[in-house]
Amino acid sequence: MSVVPVFLYHAVSDRSPSWLARFTVGPRTFVEQLDMIADSGLRVIPLRQLVAALLGGPAVPPRSAVLTFDDGYADFASTVAPLLAARGLPSTLYVTTGALRDAGRTSGRGPFPSVATLSWDQVKELDAAGVEIGGHTTTHPQLDTLSRRSVREEVAGCKRRIEDELGHRVDSFAYPHGYSSRTVRTLVREAGWTSAAAIRGASAFSSDQDDPMRFARLMVQADIGRDRFARWTSGEGAPVAPFSEGLMTRGWRAYRRARAVTGRPYRALPA
Ligand SMILES: [Zn+2]
Repeated sequence: MSVVPVFLYHAVSDRSPSWLARFTVGPRTFVEQLDMIADSGLRVIPLRQLVAALLGGPAVPPRSAVLTFDDGYADFASTVAPLLAARGLPSTLYVTTGALRDAGRTSGRGPFPSVATLSWDQVKELDAAGVEIGGHTTTHPQLDTLSRRSVREEVAGCKRRIEDELGHRVDSFAYPHGYSSRTVRTLVREAGWTSAAAIRGASAFSSDQDDPMRFARLMVQADIGRDRFARWTSGEGAPVAPFSEGLMTRGWRAYRRARAVTGRPYRALPA
């Protein structure tokens, strides 16, 4: 089995609101991590190449890695994209359509309060520059606690909106907070998404045997440290997907569902 690290980033910035700080990596650290990826001999491939392999296509080369970015923060355009372009690295950016700047929800309201998000013009520029734009729902809910109807609206509405704006099909979806269920995965597939990014446990490696509708990722958090990141680049320090859904995940979902039903949703942030 070929282990594939799929790195998941959120914000890359020196400043971020307190709720996002844990999920923010400073630009210097980000550059160090890109250098460590290169120095370790990993080769960053486009996500579509991994997905093609998971769907039965050609195998990915040994020591492949994938870079993904969730939510759609403005620093992707100002900081991340130039750094990746200078190194010729492909990436996938999953945008939460209802939180983009033009949606007018960035000032203290919406899913990502007090942080600048991308505008549609920027998303279009990134798309034209070769960044793969993927979907991350409209409002960033915990999909596995919603009705089927609401899930459909979130996953199909988001896809329609991105395709209308970009003028071409988009294929790649990421579950907000990483949460899915069998029903959610079915609805995501029915909406036309051909792959979906998850988070298995805190972090896990994907592999050439992983499930394309919930492939695992390694979440890079503020406190990761050089040693742990170095271990990840050498294919160590996290479990390798696929593995079956554990009792912990099922129990945790039941708890979040119960909270959602009683009107006191568990506030998971942000992923
Ligand atoms: Zn997210």
